[in-house]
Amino acid sequence: SDTRAASAIGSSITIRDVVKTYGAFTAADHISLDVEPGEFITLLGPSGSGKTTLLNLVAGFQKLDGGEILVDGKPVHNVPPHRRGFGMVFQSYALFPNMTVTQNVAFPLRMAGADRETTERRVAETLDIMRLSEHAAKLPSQMSGGQQQRVAIARAIVRRPKVVLMDEPLSALDRRLRESIQIEIRDLHQRLGSTILFVTHDQGEALTMSDRIAVLDAGKIVQVATPVEIYRHPATKFVASFVGESNLIDAEIVQKRGTTMTLKNQEGYVFSAESRSSLDVGRATVLVRPERISISTTPNASALPVVVRSAIFLGEILRIEAETASGERLLIRCTDSADRALPAPGDKLYASWRAEDCWVLP
Ligand code: ATP
Repeated sequence: SDTRAASAIGSSITIRDVVKTYGAFTAADHISLDVEPGEFITLLGPSGSGKTTLLNLVAGFQKLDGGEILVDGKPVHNVPPHRRGFGMVFQSYALFPNMTVTQNVAFPLRMAGADRETTERRVAETLDIMRLSEHAAKLPSQMSGGQQQRVAIARAIVRRPKVVLMDEPLSALDRRLRESIQIEIRDLHQRLGSTILFVTHDQGEALTMSDRIAVLDAGKIVQVATPVEIYRHPATKFVASFVGESNLIDAEIVQKRGTTMTLKNQEGYVFSAESRSSLDVGRATVLVRPERISISTTPNASALPVVVRSAIFLGEILRIEAETASGERLLIRCTDSADRALPAPGDKLYASWRAEDCWVLP
């Protein structure tokens, strides 16, 4: 059927040594990235890191100053944006205000010269996928922000493009709505099989949606990996602190055996940690995620003594800020339990963690 034909796999995108400069400023600094056919890749980074620049280069809105971009192995430098056949969704919905939902979604098909019957069928199908059928006759002004953004997504996919580019499409929406559309976009991706390049500065969004995440910092890609890998085994301190909450502990590597290291922190607390790289004995920074720390109120020789500075009740979990004797901050997230009083400032706790929950940064 048509749906099955349309769910053919998306295109591969090869970004090779791409450079984009604005005067003396380098916005894309020798970026390389291989996007697999049908993959959902998120470009994640802080404001100004070059995410939109890279997306615009792939879309063809901007010209490369170096390197090349290939789609299904073919260079696209001389193909204007509208001939690349990509679906696009931006932060602002940019719907035609005087057209109904149906007319908005039908627009790309009409421009492509599709016949009436194909257009009607495709639009109906797409409205159904995006759960917009009941709004078909409405004008954008008669719909909520979330509904308008779903129309913008419907319009971007109505031609079943092999590549969909999305630039912060959910950032104007409130959190609940954002989370529900995140799931919808994920489902949509599985259903259509298009390659999706998705830009966000929201690390939670990136973790939820992506097959792989490319983390950008100052015009460079610093890591490309699955969400789990990015979270557990960040390549740099920047990635560790940008994605999720983190404790970065200064320590000395005193011994190593394979990928397991024995370390000692400033006040002599000895613990084990995992590491991929073959680091030399010496100083290191160790990542321990706040939710990986166990706490006890009973003194324990093999745990790190800390003093509570603040404890916040967040419902299902507690967020505790504590301090070691040498003044190093330790953030702890643990499940609340009804049979235990909330820790109070000044309370002593004993913190520990497992070697496999602890990552020595390369
Ligand atoms: P944001 O999340 O804020 O959109 P971003 O990661 O998408 O950020 P870009 O929009 O790609 O970042 O911008 C990267 C850098 O390039 C920024 O420092 C920006 O000021 C600069 N820049 C972007 N467009 C231009 C331009 N047309 N002229 C000059 N500098 C530009």
